[in-house]
Amino acid sequence: AISEDRAFLDAMDRIANWVVHYFNHPESYPVLAQVQPGDVRNRFPADCPETGRTFDDLIDDFEQKILPGITHWNHPAFFAYFAISGSYPGIIAESLTAALNVNGMLWRTSPSLTEIEQLSLQYLRQMLGLPEIPFAMILDTASTSSLLAIAAAREALAELQVREKGLAGRHDIPRLVVYCSEEAHSSIEKAAIVLGIGRENVCRIKTDSDFRMRADELLHRIEHDLACGSKPLCVVATVGTTSTTSVDPVGAIAEICRMHGIWLHVDAAYAGIAAILPEKRNTLAGCDAADSLVVNPHKWLFTPIDLSAFYCRRPSVLKDALSLVPEYLRVSDACEVTNLMDYGFQLGRRFRGLKLWMVINYYGSSGLRNLIRGHLDLANQFAKWVQDSDSFELMAPVPFSTVCFRFHPKIELPSAAAGSFESLAAYLDDVNERLMNAVNATGETYLSHTKIHNKYALRCAIGNIRTQSSHIANLCRILEECSHTLMSSPL
Ligand SMILES: *Cc1c(COP(=O)(O)O)cnc(C)c1O
Repeated sequence: AISEDRAFLDAMDRIANWVVHYFNHPESYPVLAQVQPGDVRNRFPADCPETGRTFDDLIDDFEQKILPGITHWNHPAFFAYFAISGSYPGIIAESLTAALNVNGMLWRTSPSLTEIEQLSLQYLRQMLGLPEIPFAMILDTASTSSLLAIAAAREALAELQVREKGLAGRHDIPRLVVYCSEEAHSSIEKAAIVLGIGRENVCRIKTDSDFRMRADELLHRIEHDLACGSKPLCVVATVGTTSTTSVDPVGAIAEICRMHGIWLHVDAAYAGIAAILPEKRNTLAGCDAADSLVVNPHKWLFTPIDLSAFYCRRPSVLKDALSLVPEYLRVSDACEVTNLMDYGFQLGRRFRGLKLWMVINYYGSSGLRNLIRGHLDLANQFAKWVQDSDSFELMAPVPFSTVCFRFHPKIELPSAAAGSFESLAAYLDDVNERLMNAVNATGETYLSHTKIHNKYALRCAIGNIRTQSSHIANLCRILEECSHTLMSSPL
């Protein structure tokens, strides 16, 4: 198969060149894909190809037919949701992971997989300034990490025997309650759905004026639930909520959990990474008391999606919850060996740790700190522009690299609009939605939105490794131009 080897080498060469060009000319691509549903599929035959095609053919299709349907998360002007980065070391590691194609279900099925995974999570923990944690593993997403955390919390109430008896049809089990703030991520509620706890039993604790969980309210609800015979299962504190990136008072929450013996899980998927900066160390204050914690290197640490870091201080409980070893997977390796299949519901696992190890080693902790610090500076630059502007305003504090803002011209409700809108508030919601759509339609940049105190707000989340000050300046120009066009055109 010498000719196949040659074709592979040529293809890798072509791809490597394409990647370099891609990173150097992001302006050649609209950030938000400008296609209609079905456009991509319709470019291809509906019937499965009978004969194989060449790499060149396939890469041509990729460039001509698939790329137009890509929304470019790797674009430096991508500011929607939480911006992410596929970096060079990450791309190299992903290629090697695919080349090896190992499955790390057991230590012996690829010792390096388990050990590099644990080593890179140790490096990450050290960078975050956290004390030793007895167990860590890599999962695909924060959603999975939080699901495992709550599964462990359920097992921590061993007397309920949920693992053996399940939840359905039992009269000997009280109502089980998971607490999180009203700003917590939807993945917590999804975990409650999957684990048979139910959405109604996710207690959304009120937040203060800066969108942080109110610890007094949490304590009050826990005491109330206990008095009613319910059983608190778990508290999930969020470090960096999805809308405004607010940080719950983890220390005070941990104290309440300690008092009542409740599992504390911390969801720090995005903002936890900021703690690698000495000046932001306090981001994870109190988290040393948590039973489990998740941070996502695929969000703000330049590691290609997907890679979520899950830390657990009570691995024996996690193992009790999820270990199940059929005969064909029994091994006689030394007991100090970690078999990762014992700590989750998936059996097979890919070599994700290689990309985290490569990213950390390639940039070094100081390189990573400089990149994160740069993002905080860019967020400040943008927040300052909003504050100095006559027609834009900030909608929330900016603790990290995400800015919530909206268009708010100092005008009365235009008379032309008075007929269609009940209030200035309704008009502002509408005009901001139209502004966002106009901005995204330029293809030059991409914003997303949220609701803050029921008001439509735009979010500018900075997190791509190639984002520069010029991209922020360009965003400001586009916002000015699009808002001007909106205001001067009839409704
Ligand atoms: C992004 C985010 C999640 C979801 O992360 P996935 O890895 O996509 O599951 C959960 N919680 C918080 C706070 C987040 O910011």
